[in-house]
Amino acid sequence: MPIKSRIRTVPHYPKQGIMFRDITTLLKDPVGMRATIDALARRYGGMKIDKIAGIESRGFIIGAPLAYVLGKGFIPIRKKGKLPAETIGHDYELEYGTDRIEIHTDAVSKGERVLLVDDLIATGGTAEAACKLLGKMGGEIVECCFVIDLPDIGGRKRLEKHGHKVFALCEFEGD
Ligand code: AMP
Repeated sequence: MPIKSRIRTVPHYPKQGIMFRDITTLLKDPVGMRATIDALARRYGGMKIDKIAGIESRGFIIGAPLAYVLGKGFIPIRKKGKLPAETIGHDYELEYGTDRIEIHTDAVSKGERVLLVDDLIATGGTAEAACKLLGKMGGEIVECCFVIDLPDIGGRKRLEKHGHKVFALCEFEGD
């Protein structure tokens, strides 16, 4: 397991009861870093994809090298107020309060096939918001891909209920 075994679990971060799945230990290891990008490149190399969209910020670390290897363009989906040109955004619910992600209005053209990338799916709220945003721009989501799925939290099912395909390189039980 070159990938899962290199992910560190930090208990009670950022708050009591959360098992934080930390990919920095995977990324700093040359074997782990390469295995991660290579595994995704093998999966997506044969698929028709126009662009890769990464969710701030850990989605950038995985999405950008994947876009480079596959020879595709990379689009950042960012937190509120970070993108300099004209944006559209989508507000979504968090456990406490709401958050907003944004994308440049010229990032995706109608009908373009986009692969969505992030490090981890938990509730699926962030990825669902990103899918809505890409959908608003006329993008077609090829698949939502993650390094880690936490299946017990139900994000994968949530995205699948909305008709999206989901792929993850590894899973961790519990939350
Ligand atoms: P969610 O919207 O609930 O699917 O949360 C996904 C986002 O929160 C991802 O961008 C993750 O980086 C982060 N996240 C949520 N839970 C964890 C966790 N247990 N360990 C590490 N990151 C997490």
